[in-house]
Amino acid sequence: MSAGAARLARIDLHTHSTASDGLFSPTELVRRASEAGLTLIGLTDHDTTNGVAEAQAAGAPLGVTVIPGVEINTDLPEGQGEAHVLGYYLDVNQPAFQATLAFLRDAREKRGERMVQQLREQGFDIEWSRVRELAKGTVGRPHVARALIDAGYATDVSDAFARYLTRGKAGYVPRFKLSPEQAIQLIRSAQGAPVLAHPAGIVGLSETVLPTLVQAGLLGLECYYGQYDDETVARLLALANAHDLIPTGGSDYHGPNIHPTRLGGRWVPPETVERLRQASEKLRAEPPTTFTLPEASY
Ligand code: AMP
Ligand code: ZN
Ligand code: FE
Ligand code: FE
Repeated sequence: MSAGAARLARIDLHTHSTASDGLFSPTELVRRASEAGLTLIGLTDHDTTNGVAEAQAAGAPLGVTVIPGVEINTDLPEGQGEAHVLGYYLDVNQPAFQATLAFLRDAREKRGERMVQQLREQGFDIEWSRVRELAKGTVGRPHVARALIDAGYATDVSDAFARYLTRGKAGYVPRFKLSPEQAIQLIRSAQGAPVLAHPAGIVGLSETVLPTLVQAGLLGLECYYGQYDDETVARLLALANAHDLIPTGGSDYHGPNIHPTRLGGRWVPPETVERLRQASEKLRAEPPTTFTLPEASY
């Protein structure tokens, strides 16, 4: 093979579209991925796979493969931070899996409405209808942030989060979340490979969190993430190695000016894709597992 033909596959396994809180539609995201020279992306929208079919259709003529993915945000015990669980190579056609995602999105909807109500009670002139219009799919705080920016209460999304939308601030309302273990089980029930996202900031990662999540069926660790420096990547790779987890990575692209890493801005080893695919294949060959929401959730 000539040097010219040995073009590096460029992949980005962590991206968001308007199916959740990304700024670009699945079609536009894939177009930009192609423009950036990517040949494969994982579409990992929050609590939904609804952008996957559109992204795959847009990717086919451009030579961009789209892996069906998801991101489920969960909380760790107080003070340890959050565990965001990514899933890859999901079977998006499983009714029970989709019903649970729909439940999570519905809980977000109710929480979004409560956030707006709470802000209005404190004199903020924003409308739920505007938030709903900004959210083309899964509603999140970023959409409330955009409504606050539109109304002149904040300069950008980070500013809106810092001033109004984080715990203890005027607009904050908690929402129903699965536990990290439940998120892993949910993803496995759709034969997806569960991966712990951007884990560097988690308190107790190596001591308690990883051993527990590996026990629950975690299969990967996002090591090549966003702006992580070499030292952080090396520390995470050592942990992935110690627990026999697939090291994954990506940009967490949501659109310009949201996270600092551009689409495809983080190198990810090409063999990652094959390892995730094989992990999912293996789950498909095993007896199916089920995930049931605990009744107390309703
Ligand atoms: P939610 O899912 O509604 O709880 O909102 C969380 C999402 O908002 C995360 O997944 C990020 O995409 C985004 N986010 C969280 N914190 C910030 C921040 N400080 N600035 C911008 N976006 C943020
Ligand atoms: Zn997001
Ligand atoms: Fe995340
Ligand atoms: Fe993300």
